[in-house]
Amino acid sequence: MHADPNQRDTSPSYDPVAHRVRAFGATVFAEFTALANATGAVNLGQGFPNFPAPDFVKEAAQAAIAADLNQYARSAGHPRLVNALAQVYSPLFGRTLDPMQEIVVTVGATEGIFATVQALVNPGDEVILIEPFYDSYPASVLMAGGTPVYVPLRGPVGSRSAAAWVLDIDELAAAITPRTKLILLNTPLNPLGKVYSRTELAAIATLVQAHNLTVLSDEVYEWMVYPPAEHVRIATLPGMWERTVTLGSAGKTFSVTGWKIGWAIAPPRLAHAVLMAHQWIPFAVSTPMQEAVAVALEQAEPRCYFAWLSALYQAKRDRLLGVLDDIGLTPMAPDGSYFIIVDTSKINVPVTGDSRRDVAVCRWLTGEIGVAAIPPSPFYSGPHQSLTDNMARFTFCKTDDMLEEAARRLQRVKIQR
Ligand code: PMP
Ligand code: GLN
Repeated sequence: MHADPNQRDTSPSYDPVAHRVRAFGATVFAEFTALANATGAVNLGQGFPNFPAPDFVKEAAQAAIAADLNQYARSAGHPRLVNALAQVYSPLFGRTLDPMQEIVVTVGATEGIFATVQALVNPGDEVILIEPFYDSYPASVLMAGGTPVYVPLRGPVGSRSAAAWVLDIDELAAAITPRTKLILLNTPLNPLGKVYSRTELAAIATLVQAHNLTVLSDEVYEWMVYPPAEHVRIATLPGMWERTVTLGSAGKTFSVTGWKIGWAIAPPRLAHAVLMAHQWIPFAVSTPMQEAVAVALEQAEPRCYFAWLSALYQAKRDRLLGVLDDIGLTPMAPDGSYFIIVDTSKINVPVTGDSRRDVAVCRWLTGEIGVAAIPPSPFYSGPHQSLTDNMARFTFCKTDDMLEEAARRLQRVKIQR
């Protein structure tokens, strides 16, 4: 997102189509995955697992296709899936969720974000985005005619731990105006790997209630939390259930990002609002894939799948942290998600044209070293993008073989200490 697509321009050469195309720009993920494919780089950029989904998940999809579940699903979600979601999430939310009124199945969490913002934001409303934010947040806010208001997390560059990055609650309070409607929260946080503590969430919750706001809590990495960190759902804090839309994603949970199944969990008033937007976006979500995710969720707990997934990622995290540390890139240990931010300040790469330094370094890593990483500047608003000049984001949601190959190639950047 490079500019406000809603801006008016009265000049005779104004081309409204070109204007919006320029404003929206291309996602950083499309650019870097294309570059990785073109150069044969190991793709530790875009966050998608390159290993197979579990057999029980794939078998559920095959069975759903064989069962001829081929027609439109219920707009709010295939009954078997919303029931399975209510079963899994009721204990986690500490309440009995109503599958028919408190859950909406979406086309991945991406549509959950878009539909929630469309549902709740009127033109002119302000929406607080905490930086770094997931790159679709500003696009969703601007497409609804809302105004993003940015509040950056603050932390020491070169810090060893994502937990060192914190929200200045006074800065958040100062950003709230009578026009503020919504706060977008992401925990665990892409790209930092920060997991908000209960204390931090309680401070946010106090402000939200004092100013009569709503929270969209994007929790797609909820199962990738590494002890002793603990995933706290803001919706479970006192007074917050009524004010929160919580989003999840089967793509992350079952390593099937291409299936594009997500969900929103909220009290009936908010869930209904999300549904009213959702019915005009995709209307309904793929029926056989919803059936497959339902079966996967039904089997997940008996198979201890969630614990297995978090242990798998913890081992991969530690492996990549070791590699990055060894070559001198000072990685920031994430408490959650499958991303690691490193400090690239000791890499000497010329920055040419109007490129940002983080973009230039990541292009160099991809093209010259053969390992793709994502520059984090697209996760910041223009005025704050220089905060990421010395950062690159690597993902560890890859096979051990791929991580091994990346480690071998990254030896070439080894920094002499
Ligand atoms: N939110 C965050 C923070 C993400 O990193 C992603 C990544 N893909 C999404 C939402 C989108 O999820 P989905 O693939 O389910 O649309
Ligand atoms: N969420 C993934 C990431 O941050 C990518 C999603 C996408 O490509 N849009 O890497």
